[in-house]
Amino acid sequence: MSDQYAVIGNPIGHTKSPLIHGLFAQETQQDMAYTAIEGPLEPQDAFAATVRAFIAAGGKGMNVTAPFKLKAFAMADERSEPAELAGATNALSFKDGRIIAENFDGIGLLRDIKVNLKLPMGGTRVLVLGAGGAVRGALLPFLAAQPAELVVANRDTAKVKALVAQVVARGPLLACGYRDLETMGQFDLVVNATSASLTGELPPVPPSVFSPTGVAYELAYGKRLTPFLRLARNAGTQHVADGVGMLVEQAAEAFAWWRGVRPETRAVIDRLTVPLD
Ligand code: NDP
Repeated sequence: MSDQYAVIGNPIGHTKSPLIHGLFAQETQQDMAYTAIEGPLEPQDAFAATVRAFIAAGGKGMNVTAPFKLKAFAMADERSEPAELAGATNALSFKDGRIIAENFDGIGLLRDIKVNLKLPMGGTRVLVLGAGGAVRGALLPFLAAQPAELVVANRDTAKVKALVAQVVARGPLLACGYRDLETMGQFDLVVNATSASLTGELPPVPPSVFSPTGVAYELAYGKRLTPFLRLARNAGTQHVADGVGMLVEQAAEAFAWWRGVRPETRAVIDRLTVPLD
């Protein structure tokens, strides 16, 4: 039997993960199957039971998506540092009866920005909007890329300050509210890591943060020009991107972790890209 992998979430109908991992497996000639599982929302312990049933049936690894990233983290026996900081996992590996939790969202985002968009982050001014799971995963990889300054803004300022306090010793990091951004000038990279775009909303970010020569990056994908990307465009930013590259890069990290071979991502990103305009 082929090695078994799956993505678990609820709802799960929208997932691109089986397609992405199927293409990776074909390209790297791995004998594996990858399916989508709709995880149970109720009762409380049903999610863990579903994961354990998958392991018992020979499952080797799983991607985890909303709303189970915290529950999957909680049931792990071992957790990587990015997973610990995020308090959440998006990839599990099952080995010798143990569940190992990773979080590749942050490294996937960083790779998309550095490698695919060719924006070296070293020495630049970076602004991240939001303080949810995606931001938690991104802070350590972003700081490792040595920006001159990393500012994180959120509606709930107490939440963003508490998050930043956990890693402030690692680099030049500042937490603030949206009003504070009005006096901070332009940034080389502005990342919308809020979930506002999922409902067509715009985080209250002032247009003054965008630079004509900078990059505006939207984590949501497949939604064409979101209100955030439109605001950036109207403020003169030429280079705008959505999160499809991040999606594929985090998948490639998980694939390499499971299979020991890193797949090519360019063709898969191109296949999944929905033009912004
Ligand atoms: P969370 O639910 O953990 O966090 C949501 C964040 O968005 C919070 O900080 C919240 O602020 C903020 N927010 C929500 N609505 C608004 C609004 N109208 N204005 C301003 N801020 C708002 O979400 P995640 O971190 O898991 O995901 C964030 C985004 O990233 C989603 O769009 C998700 O689809 C995308 N994503 C993309 C991935 C990819 O591979 N491309 C991978 C993972 C996520 P507050 O704290 O003040 O409530």
